[in-house]
Amino acid sequence: MNRSMKRTILLIALCAILAACAKAAYTNRSQLLLISEGQETQLGLQAAQDVVKKEKMSTDQMQAERVKRVGRRIAAASNKPDYKWEFFLIEKDTVNAFCLPGGKVFVYTGILDLATTNDELAAIMGHEIAHALVRHGGERMSTALMLQFGGQAASIALGAGTSPAVSQIFSQAYGVGAQVGVLLPHSRTQESEADEVGMILAAMAGYEPSGAMTLWQKMDAYSAKKGQTPPVFLSTHPSSKQRIADIQAKMGAIRAKYYRQQLLQ
Ligand SMILES: [Zn+2]
Repeated sequence: MNRSMKRTILLIALCAILAACAKAAYTNRSQLLLISEGQETQLGLQAAQDVVKKEKMSTDQMQAERVKRVGRRIAAASNKPDYKWEFFLIEKDTVNAFCLPGGKVFVYTGILDLATTNDELAAIMGHEIAHALVRHGGERMSTALMLQFGGQAASIALGAGTSPAVSQIFSQAYGVGAQVGVLLPHSRTQESEADEVGMILAAMAGYEPSGAMTLWQKMDAYSAKKGQTPPVFLSTHPSSKQRIADIQAKMGAIRAKYYRQQLLQ
């Protein structure tokens, strides 16, 4: 039996014992989650305080308000009242944005050069919020726990609130360690899921889902221009012709089913 088979069997066994296999919100995909949503939210809210302390907030009231307005609409569409939603605009010329579990959303001024329309801003915020709602960070943490601790992963996860090892894995999964906003790459499955759920949320909030397509087209052009050193966001969210084609393929059905234009006043 090779290593990956052993690992798979261990994963399946743990899943069964702990009933840790959850179904992803919106898409119903099976997920391995050793960390509870409550633990994740607690860690997210703590980390958000550090981010707020460490980063300089933008003094551009108009743009900060724009981020809040778009964010609140998407939050309302997400129907997640247990989240303590808040939207921050960080003054930094870097193409980046992220959402921590618990509902603290951070957008960097550098990404607004690309997300010039509200539909595009909704696409980026919807995508990041989708990562949190669908618990992609929790999934990444669970995999990291399994890889580091094997059979003890579950018991270590139970003490998540107090375990330094879990705090460290959280920092890696969400990119809130030494370098704020630098996270381990999402899997392609998570990225395409966040694109889909993000478009659904944006459309429900009254934003035209085609914003996702123009946004990723701009990302693609931007990364081509930057050459060898893609910005942080694009190294974890690679833009490609395939991604844009996938978004385009899903767009029509999402618009027909979820777009609520009457909400825009
Ligand atoms: Zn992403």
